[in-house]
Amino acid sequence: MVERVEALGLKAHLSRGTYRTIIGVIGDEQKISAEPLLAIPGVQEVIPVLPPYKLASREAHPQASIVDVAGVKIGGGFLGMIAGPCAVEEPERMDAIGAAVKAAGANILRGGAFKPRTSPYAFQGMGEAGLKLLRETGDKFGLPVVTEVMDPRFVEMVERYADMIQIGARNMQNFSLLTEVGRTRKPVLLKRGMSATVEDLLMSAEYILSQGNSAVVLCERGVKSFDKATRNLYDVASVPLVKGLSHLPIIVDPSHATGRPDLIPSCALAGVAAGADGVHIEVHDCPERAKSDGPQALLPKQYAELVGQIRKVAAAIGKQISTPTQKPKD
Ligand code: PEP
Ligand code: MN
Repeated sequence: MVERVEALGLKAHLSRGTYRTIIGVIGDEQKISAEPLLAIPGVQEVIPVLPPYKLASREAHPQASIVDVAGVKIGGGFLGMIAGPCAVEEPERMDAIGAAVKAAGANILRGGAFKPRTSPYAFQGMGEAGLKLLRETGDKFGLPVVTEVMDPRFVEMVERYADMIQIGARNMQNFSLLTEVGRTRKPVLLKRGMSATVEDLLMSAEYILSQGNSAVVLCERGVKSFDKATRNLYDVASVPLVKGLSHLPIIVDPSHATGRPDLIPSCALAGVAAGADGVHIEVHDCPERAKSDGPQALLPKQYAELVGQIRKVAAAIGKQISTPTQKPKD
């Protein structure tokens, strides 16, 4: 083993116990990670000392990162308040929702133009027309916009319209998509996959960072569970956990995590209290007519009330909702 380690240009530090021998390997981890060490007779266990997500790790970057989304800060004490409909809908609707979330205190407008739907027969989103509409609505109310991209072929198009690119839960491990958004210089909102571990999430962030895009915001949106009482299982513990492991900002999405408007406000507050750098919530002025995720949408009035409460929790822990520097265009 020592010969093999040294042949790779690494140092081997031997520690012989009564029953086991430990070989500490010193040097560039990448040289050894490609070796099938466990397949060598006598090797019981191979334990990496550093996390496999180098660029995303706290070790690499002890200070918390702040991601700037067209003037809105997420992280380092600043909260991103992302709100809007699940899907981009007709102009009148976008106008009403944009005005309402802006008045309520949101600082980033959301809306999907490409929707990942379980059924191919469900509304798939407005495509490029939706991107245009989202952009126009954001500009009108002075709100940067975030929208999902599902296909590497559309990254360039989405990048042209959006201030932040969302990678949805279903695509968290679409590695070619991650590589493609990593090549852009737009901030990325990376949602946790529904069956992804925290380490999986950080490894996906690493794909984006490794392409030179350092503006990654993670998002806890719940994971699959045996309990059907809520849409997903809201893993609020992942927030402080990620904070310890990584310098990247992490926000919470209690809309998709719970799927229930009656639970969203308290879960949003819990997320902020747990250290989240922002809150992502679906808001619709007429949920019964929404083209997607209507049943989980908060009404503008409910959202406004929640923002007031979030402000208080944030203040109690020395944080604040980021104020956009972008001015409305008229
Ligand atoms: C969404 O944001 O509307 C969405 C589809 O979220 P997720 O990818 O977390 O399911
Ligand atoms: Mn949705």
